[in-house]
Amino acid sequence: KMRLVFLVLLCLPVCSAYPLSGAAKQEDSNRDLAQQYLENYYNLKTDVKQFRRKESNLIVKKIRRMQKFLGLAATGKLDSDTLEVMRKPRCGVPDVGHFHTFPGIPKWRKTHLTYRIVNYTPDLPRDAVDSAVEKAVKVWEEVTPLTFSRLYEGEADIMISFAVKEHGDFYPFDGSGHSLAHAYPPGPGLYGDIHFDDDEKWTEDASGTNLFLVAAHELGHSLGLFHSANTEALMYPLYNSFTELVRFRLSQDDVNGIQSLYGPPPASTEEPLVPTISVPSGSGTPAKCDPALSFDAISTLRGEYLFFKDRYFWRRSHWNSEPEFHLISAFWPSLPSYLDAAYEVNSRDTVFIFKGNEFWAIRGNEVKAGYPRGIHTLGFPPTIRKIDAAVSDKEKKKTYFFVEDKYWRFDENSQSMEQGFPRLIADDFPGVEPKVDAVLQAFGFFYFFSGSSQFEFDPNARMVTHILKSNSWLHC
Ligand SMILES: [Zn+2]
Ligand SMILES: [Zn+2]
Repeated sequence: KMRLVFLVLLCLPVCSAYPLSGAAKQEDSNRDLAQQYLENYYNLKTDVKQFRRKESNLIVKKIRRMQKFLGLAATGKLDSDTLEVMRKPRCGVPDVGHFHTFPGIPKWRKTHLTYRIVNYTPDLPRDAVDSAVEKAVKVWEEVTPLTFSRLYEGEADIMISFAVKEHGDFYPFDGSGHSLAHAYPPGPGLYGDIHFDDDEKWTEDASGTNLFLVAAHELGHSLGLFHSANTEALMYPLYNSFTELVRFRLSQDDVNGIQSLYGPPPASTEEPLVPTISVPSGSGTPAKCDPALSFDAISTLRGEYLFFKDRYFWRRSHWNSEPEFHLISAFWPSLPSYLDAAYEVNSRDTVFIFKGNEFWAIRGNEVKAGYPRGIHTLGFPPTIRKIDAAVSDKEKKKTYFFVEDKYWRFDENSQSMEQGFPRLIADDFPGVEPKVDAVLQAFGFFYFFSGSSQFEFDPNARMVTHILKSNSWLHC
């Protein structure tokens, strides 16, 4: 712990926004707050142990990650906005968690679930607690095929309790403020359970901490949803007392998230799920069978196919022919959306993700430490600001990067850009339209995606063998 404090001290002169003179006490408490926050919600301790040499960098990175996730300017500095957010009451579940394992997404394998209110807070009459929980359950029931019933004894799937401080699960509560509650993802025993911090003042209205809002958020976790970076979403980690309680509705983001796990409710195949809170402009949910659909990036991942679009991706796995639809942030909270390119290097069990002049490396559901890195570290000239598409040839161990009408080739064995590049796409991939959005290698072909069209290219015959719609992979 001492070592950590020391490192944070080292870091602050570089990243601090305030003058060094005066208010030293305030700075100390800010540092403590930041350290605690990053440890609790951004996994700081674990990483610092693992990557000793880069700690100060890492702390700046963690701050930036937190800022990005919570919708602040990603300065990496402990500025006043950042400190203010760190002081806000929030959900006790971390923003970078272990909840999602990829491929095994935790979700209930049944549609009828039980819950039980194990004990009560002294803050509210019992029937007020009952109805807050019941209302929270309805929020999710309305948009899924899930149904719930209440148990009064025995073991329910979702055991709901109030507790203070240490309460037997290694995640002690912290007194009044800060962490309000936490919940466990679907599974047996403790999994699925919800704990409320009874050092909060629980209320029916917004005068204290509104029990219904927090219960609805925690239930989202109990059903398998992770935190969303969308500030409009119920699954955003900060408690928002301004949410309208009377006409509360889920955001589209929450609906998409939960329906990616359980699908829509059986009766209402299409409509009445229209949420009153809309997602930010220009980011409507992409529809897989829209004939105009184009992709931002496509990659394989351990034998599955990932099709990225805006803030989402479709995942086509072996055993489920119907593609799953997810938020990128649900799997990789620290990844950006609106990606440029993605490819997998099988031999390293790694998918590389590109956006702008940076790239990330992911293994399963984990973003590797030490990323993002600059694309120029791969050997691109400084004039290249972004990549349009990329694909790695699994047999030949060469990775192709497409940028406008040219492409580069990277040798995975020597880990270096090859001599003699860039070359024109038109010269080596005749028939493929330049300005490629995404490329996929499958069945011995390269599939080039350009807008709503897809070119199947046979590398041996060096010709386009088929032209398809881009969404042909999504069973349209
Ligand atoms: Zn939460
Ligand atoms: Zn707990």
